[in-house]
Amino acid sequence: MSSNKGVVVLGSTGSIGRQTLDVIAQHSDRLHAVALACGTRVAEMEGQAARFGVQHTAVGADAALGLIGLDDADIVVNALVGSAGLRASYETLAAGKTLALANKESLVVGGDLLMPMAQQPGQLMPIDSEHGAIYQCLLGEDPREVSCLWVTASGGPFRGRTRDELAQVTASDALAHPTWTMGPKITIDSSTLMNKGLEVIEAHHLFDMPYERIQVVVQPQSAIHSMVEFADGSVKAHLGTTDMRIPIQFALSYPERWDAPVEPLDFRTLGRLDFAAPDTDTFRCLSLARQAGAVGGTLPAAMNAANEVAVAAFLRGDCGFLDIPACVEAVMSSHDTQPVESVDQLEGVDAAAREAACRFLSSVHVA
Ligand code: MG
Repeated sequence: MSSNKGVVVLGSTGSIGRQTLDVIAQHSDRLHAVALACGTRVAEMEGQAARFGVQHTAVGADAALGLIGLDDADIVVNALVGSAGLRASYETLAAGKTLALANKESLVVGGDLLMPMAQQPGQLMPIDSEHGAIYQCLLGEDPREVSCLWVTASGGPFRGRTRDELAQVTASDALAHPTWTMGPKITIDSSTLMNKGLEVIEAHHLFDMPYERIQVVVQPQSAIHSMVEFADGSVKAHLGTTDMRIPIQFALSYPERWDAPVEPLDFRTLGRLDFAAPDTDTFRCLSLARQAGAVGGTLPAAMNAANEVAVAAFLRGDCGFLDIPACVEAVMSSHDTQPVESVDQLEGVDAAAREAACRFLSSVHVA
């Protein structure tokens, strides 16, 4: 690998993609963009390509696969949205390249396939503030001495609301997220706590940790990005400014640390750190995701597909907030779970679960 690494950015016009290009611009002596892919905002991507002198671009998840094999591509930042990102993750690891993974659905759906392919240290770097935090807390530690992972959650914009109140909320209420700036899909997932459920499954795969040793705690200030508890009762926490460029940069700089254009946390003005248990009775997606993860096999893929369909419907105003967990639960309960075998199989499960989710939502709509 050359000292100036070539980066492919899949999902370049989304929140993570734009911030990745920001990191690349800050560190042009160490990183350069070699290819960009987007979903629909083609003119914006062409502007980025002109600005960064990028020759190779692609539109859509299938076309994006063609960029992974480019000779000067060392790192692939997978910031595609949803299970459509699975094959790109698979192809990146199969090509022996570094996968900087913001597409957590890849691991939720295909963690059983992807993790055995990523045995080189640093080959799969999470771009998720919680998992970047845990990754850093584990550096230099013996995995056998870890007793528990604490995944922190902001609690989302509806923390403290009752189910009756949640029945009335709209997509624009949910998109007003208090701490992190993110795309619409993850913002809705954040408001249902499904994002935290997906992150528990992501942590299970990334850190080879059984589900009973992964805890979720609400930390509303989002100053603690996650924690690791060890056998002797010591706990390491990762703190920092809530700016995704920090975890993005860490994924690209590892094993080094580079300067970041981010104001460091000023503990003198931070005030307080609060903690609370998540309200899993009201926000049922977290428990449903945990349940899917614990059963394993193809169930997380079906669960994830149902969630993607329901979130898209909610964003269009076609279903209510509480229809999201109801849809996920209905699809999970009708799914015949099988061991994970291949990307083709998982794409088949994804497609079937999407159909089941659409049927469920249209039945709710008629009633
Ligand atoms: Mg996260």
